[in-house]
Amino acid sequence: MTSAALRVVGDGAPASASASSRPLIEIRGLAKTYRTRDGDVPSLRPIDLDLAAGEFVAVVGPSGCGKSTLLKLVGGLIPPSAGEVRIAGRPVTEPPDDVGIVFQNPVLLAWRTVLRNVMMPVEVRGLDRGTHLARARALLKTAGLSDFEQKYPWQLSGGMQQRTSICRALVHDPKIVLMDEPFGALDAMTRERMNLELQRIHGETGKTVLLITHSIPEAIFLADRVVVMSERPGTVAAIYDIDLPRPRTIEMLGNPVFADLARRVRSHFYAQGGLD
Ligand code: ADP
Ligand code: MG
Repeated sequence: MTSAALRVVGDGAPASASASSRPLIEIRGLAKTYRTRDGDVPSLRPIDLDLAAGEFVAVVGPSGCGKSTLLKLVGGLIPPSAGEVRIAGRPVTEPPDDVGIVFQNPVLLAWRTVLRNVMMPVEVRGLDRGTHLARARALLKTAGLSDFEQKYPWQLSGGMQQRTSICRALVHDPKIVLMDEPFGALDAMTRERMNLELQRIHGETGKTVLLITHSIPEAIFLADRVVVMSERPGTVAAIYDIDLPRPRTIEMLGNPVFADLARRVRSHFYAQGGLD
């Protein structure tokens, strides 16, 4: 991270909510129906949601309810069927430069080294190689991957591959990070470490994060707000403000406020089956 990093402290209020009244991300009437040879697949009912700059929003919902679809729409990877996404006031029609995406699977290129995988967004965007190479190396160091820069993805554990993909999403220093169940494949201990690391990055850089997760504790641990989605075609069923102080600690998982929030979020899923 940059040395001039800002530390976001306090009650988890969006970092610059007072600086600008306009949300950084505006989701308006956003809906998606996939048109396939076998017919239409309605996947997202109209969604309205705002994210303030610096805010951390987590999304939970049943399998197939449209979480990945929502993330792809926000990231400009697929076009909406209705409504729109605006980032800093501009309609999203293609992947914006200021967005980094972490996919559910690391999707690293097998023939590229770890370092060259992390540098991909820099090459694709034609950004300055020198400054970003230093940044890539610093990120890999933070992720504990310095000794693996010249290795290939298949020489890494699943956790290391996922950490590589997170470095790749951050290398061009995007203001917005979109993450689709990034820690789903990791073991519990690694996942906990990654949660702490993500909290640190968010706290120190003030990035705006949209995280999709199937872990209710993870959502509550990390987020300022937890969005609960309903079954497919999904829409927003409820939004919970998470007013736990920051930085949050693993010990807080046992705190009654935490347990109560988890119970309230979980109650949405008893009626409609499990999470992913
Ligand atoms: P989630 O991430 O919540 O599990 P998705 O957003 O991946 O859900 O998918 C929502 C629904 O849209 C699912 O029923 C899925 O089968 C369907 N879907 C996703 N992508 C496509 C696609 N490219 N073409 C057709 N249907 C799709
Ligand atoms: Mg998904």
